[in-house]
Amino acid sequence: MPLLGCIADDFTGATDLAAMLVAHGMTTVQVIGVPQGPLPEADAVVVALKSRTAPVTHAIAESLAACEALLAGGAKQIFFKYCSTFDSTDEGNIGPVADALMKRLQAGFAIACPAFPATGRSIYQGHLFVGQALLSESGMENHPLTPMKDPNLVRVLSRQTEAGVGLVPFSVVHEGESAIRRAFNQLRDSGRRYAITDAILDEHLHAIGAACAEHALVTGGSGIAMGLPQNFRNQGLLPEREHADALPEAKGAMAVVVGSCSRATMGQIGLARDHVPVLELDVLATPDAKALAAKARDWAQDKLSDQRPIVIVGSAMAEKVAALQQKLGREAAGALVEETLASIAADLVQRGVRRLVVAGGETSGAVVQRLGITSLRIGPQIDPGVPWTYAEPAGLHLALKSGNFGARDFFLKAFQS
Ligand code: ADP
Repeated sequence: MPLLGCIADDFTGATDLAAMLVAHGMTTVQVIGVPQGPLPEADAVVVALKSRTAPVTHAIAESLAACEALLAGGAKQIFFKYCSTFDSTDEGNIGPVADALMKRLQAGFAIACPAFPATGRSIYQGHLFVGQALLSESGMENHPLTPMKDPNLVRVLSRQTEAGVGLVPFSVVHEGESAIRRAFNQLRDSGRRYAITDAILDEHLHAIGAACAEHALVTGGSGIAMGLPQNFRNQGLLPEREHADALPEAKGAMAVVVGSCSRATMGQIGLARDHVPVLELDVLATPDAKALAAKARDWAQDKLSDQRPIVIVGSAMAEKVAALQQKLGREAAGALVEETLASIAADLVQRGVRRLVVAGGETSGAVVQRLGITSLRIGPQIDPGVPWTYAEPAGLHLALKSGNFGARDFFLKAFQS
């Protein structure tokens, strides 16, 4: 039975949260989409939705369905995870989803804390900073879908909910758990239902987490999740686990498929070229998923090994990407490469690949869908934000890397851990 049931508003955010929980001693499984059937065995279950920028009613319905499944599975506390830059608009979806969950759980009061000091996200006097810049001067003010032009989270959240929003300022958070609990009570007594909590250091997140032990609902970024496992240990519900990140032994052939054109990924391909077999598909010359997959199959035939990975690349430099987009349209071009790489990944798995790295967020989504994977057990991190995971029925170790994540030697290092 899971102790903590989590609802994440996007896929990579879910993985990030899951990795945080594992690092703090909870075994964790990430479920893709609303769970169907019984929940997997783990201390925490993280449901990955795609609700960050979905229409509000859809985001609410999916989040409530996820919440029902987690409660039915026995979860003792629900955590609603959103981005550490509070990605949302005045219409939602953070406020409306939190309102719906609060009502369902009859919670009455919840924190909203996207702070994540390790990644430079801190909150002071209710204002969110990204590194040294206010949120509204961090580049997030130009985000295409969720431009964040107001750094004051009390104001931002107030525009998304009818409920009153208050602040637990640094001077209180700094005093620790008891002072934070008193501040929660004062806010609740004065009719507020949400508290933005200042937090600058990890110790603040631990103190805030401790003060939320009895809350039915906690909302925030993955940072605040570091304070929650200790509550379950204090209650005698969670044993001390030294290896919450343990996965079955990794055996079998190794491969990397790449659909990300991000700068970090391009560097990773460059380094891999000097060490392992790399096939770069020319999608522009052959814009045909079947033909490309057949070419990859022939190439890979005598190269699969359990000693070193092979790397198959669909991505290209900006000019070639632009040319393919001009030829097919932006969406169709992306879909073609995703389709190609998903077919190649399925083929590789059929031929015995059991350790697979996928580079690219959308590409990862396409591969996971093609392989019919619905849940991933979270293992040790390769680089920050990218853990190895294990897909049980398929017996497959998978690392799903968002484009800009990972050091330059990621494609090699992943298989050495
Ligand atoms: P990231 O995590 O770096 O954003 P994604 O996989 O999310 O990577 O997005 C990359 C997108 O670019 C995908 O839709 C992919 O199919 C597309 N793409 C990759 N290579 C090419 C290419 N050569 N031409 C056109 N589109 C491409």
